[in-house]
Amino acid sequence: MEIVKGGREMSKYAVVTGNERGIGKALTVDLARQGYDVLVNWFENEQDGADVVRECQQYGVKALLHYCDVREFDQVRKMKEFALENFGPDLQVFVNNAGMSIAGKLIEQDPADYMTVVNTDLIGAMHCAHEFGPVLKDNKAGWFIIIGSCSGIRSTLGNCAYGVAKAGIMGLTRGLAQELGPYGVTVNNIAPGYINTARSAAFCGPEMIAGIKKTQVLDLIGIEEYIVTAMNYLLANPFVSGQTLMVNGGSLMF
Ligand code: NDP
Repeated sequence: MEIVKGGREMSKYAVVTGNERGIGKALTVDLARQGYDVLVNWFENEQDGADVVRECQQYGVKALLHYCDVREFDQVRKMKEFALENFGPDLQVFVNNAGMSIAGKLIEQDPADYMTVVNTDLIGAMHCAHEFGPVLKDNKAGWFIIIGSCSGIRSTLGNCAYGVAKAGIMGLTRGLAQELGPYGVTVNNIAPGYINTARSAAFCGPEMIAGIKKTQVLDLIGIEEYIVTAMNYLLANPFVSGQTLMVNGGSLMF
């Protein structure tokens, strides 16, 4: 969807967090394919981030690499300043994708571990909303998309902190949707079920993956492309906001 601002067509650019690999990488490469300039946020693997930049540049768009730990408010602010300096004010799409988990029952877990999970998956998203929400608001258009999880609805035994953080994402989605809606900005949460990325495959292991698959009504293994399709549905539809869109093979029905 083309956006016209003050009589001129806006340049298109997108910021995605945690996009060195996995779902974030797939979303970013697809945005580049659609002609968006993109900011690639590297965290622990600069080389992977540089590879994503090169892949995006093959579509003829501007792609730049920037370090940011989303747990740190000052770094999120610096990422916004970097985006404004290098891409200008016309941010159209922000995808909060960065996420991680540390397995363990809450009652047994080191508090430092559950703090890391919540600080990354929820507080990081709040920092991003605080910094990038006003940029979209000023543009009076755009999309703020958060990658949550079905774990936000159905917490999994041994992964409580992650469920807490992803449940918080649903509250953030609804609250931010109300703050930005009057300015033409939609805010939505895509909540994947199991998606086969390197991280999730290593985290779950074959037995758990087989168990998850049995909870689905569809005989499919989730792939990144299904999340890309969900993002593109949101980008095509200006009448959807404040929602949690579950993409999970029918393993959990709302
Ligand atoms: P990956 O681990 O492949 O990708 C997560 C990305 O987030 C990585 O690039 C990682 O960087 C980055 N990241 C982690 N911590 C930070 C941080 N503090 N600051 C900035 N970036 C950070 O995971 P997935 O692609 O599988 O997951 C992507 C999103 O989808 C996450 O939010 C996850 O919770 C969600 N999700 C995934 C599911 C799945 O089955 N795959 C299911 C449900 C939800 P680095 O590689 O350097 O650590």
